[in-house]
Amino acid sequence: MQKLTLNNNLQFLTLLTWSEVFPSMNLVSSTRAWCPYCYQEQLTRNHIVYESLAWSLDIIKVCSYHKQRLHHNCHHCHQTNYALAWRSRPGYCSKCLKWLGLPFEAQPSESKSSTEDELKFEIWTAITVGDLLAKSPYLTFEPFKENMAKSLCAYVNKVADGNIAAFARQLQIPRNTVWLWCKGRNLPSIKALLHICYCLKVSLLNFLTLEEDLVNSPPTLRIPVPQIKSSRQKSIKRFDADKVKQNIEAILESDEYPAPSMEEVARRLKCDRRTIFRYFPDLCHAISARYLKGRKARFEHNIEQSCEEIRQITQKLWNQGIYPSEKRVSEQMTMPGNLRYPKVRLALQEVQCQFK
Ligand SMILES: [Zn+2]
Ligand SMILES: [Zn+2]
Repeated sequence: MQKLTLNNNLQFLTLLTWSEVFPSMNLVSSTRAWCPYCYQEQLTRNHIVYESLAWSLDIIKVCSYHKQRLHHNCHHCHQTNYALAWRSRPGYCSKCLKWLGLPFEAQPSESKSSTEDELKFEIWTAITVGDLLAKSPYLTFEPFKENMAKSLCAYVNKVADGNIAAFARQLQIPRNTVWLWCKGRNLPSIKALLHICYCLKVSLLNFLTLEEDLVNSPPTLRIPVPQIKSSRQKSIKRFDADKVKQNIEAILESDEYPAPSMEEVARRLKCDRRTIFRYFPDLCHAISARYLKGRKARFEHNIEQSCEEIRQITQKLWNQGIYPSEKRVSEQMTMPGNLRYPKVRLALQEVQCQFK
C-alpha cells in the first residue's frame, strides 16, 4: 500500500503502533460506526471526508468532538455496514450508497439513554483514546508489553503502597486479575485499562508512558468506579459437568443444520469454552470437527452457486450484446466478494474467453 500511495506512514491509519499493548480480542467493532455530524462538517468545509480510526474501536461510543453517540445504522435504509464492504466509501452507506452526514441542528431525539456518569465516562474515553491515536506518530518510546506491567506497578505503589490486593479492592477488580497484569503474565483489555485510567484520573497516553508526575499528583481515585463487566466474569458459576456432557452428546447425535461451533455450544450452555474443554476434550473435538466439515461443505456449495450465477449473468449480458466485464458481472452477483476465490474467477475468465 505504501509503495502504491508513495506514503510511508500508513501504519498510523491503523492500530499497529499499539499492537503489543492492546489485546486484539473485542478491540475493533464488528460493524461500522460513524459520527454523521463530523461527516457533514468535513463536507461543508471542503475537507477530505474520512473515517476516524477511533470510530472503529468497540470501546468508543460517542464522538469526542460533538459529544453525541456514534451511529451504527444508516438513517436512510436503517441497515448496519461492515467496516469494509463492497463499494465502501467514506461518508456513504455501503448498502444504499446514500450520504451518511447530517447537519448538527438535525439531531434526532432518539438518543440511547446513558446515565450521566456513563456519558461522562464515554466522553472521557473518546477524548483520551483520540489523543493517544493522534499522538501515535510522535512517540518518543516504543509501546512494549512490559510498559503495561511497569505502569501498573507504579500506580499500585502510588495508590496502595504496593499492595496489589488493596489496589484491586479500590478499583473493584478481582485481585488475581490485577496480580497477573502486574507480573506481566496477562494484558488488560483496552476496556479494563480505560476504567483503570479513568479511576486514576490519568490519560491513557500518560499511563502508558509513565510521564505523569506520579509523585506530585494527588493519589485520590475517582468515585464511583465504573463497572468492568467482562464476558468471563459473567460466566462464573457452578459447572454442572453431567448436564454439560448430556447436552453436548445430544447436540452430536442431533442432525442440526448447520452444525454449531464449539463457541456457539458454549454460549448455549452458558459455560466457558475452556472449562468445557478441560472436562471433555474429545467431545469438544467432535463438535469442532463436525462444524468444520459442515462449514467446508457450505463453502464449496456457495462457490458452485457463484460459478453458476456467473454463467447466467454472462448469458443475459450476451443476449443484450454487452461484454461481461468483471465490473458488470460483479454488480449483478449476489456475493461479488466470491470473485476473490480462484475457482469463481476461473469461471468468469472461461466465459469471457467465449466472447472474444
Ligand atoms: Zn462528530
Ligand atoms: Zn443506507
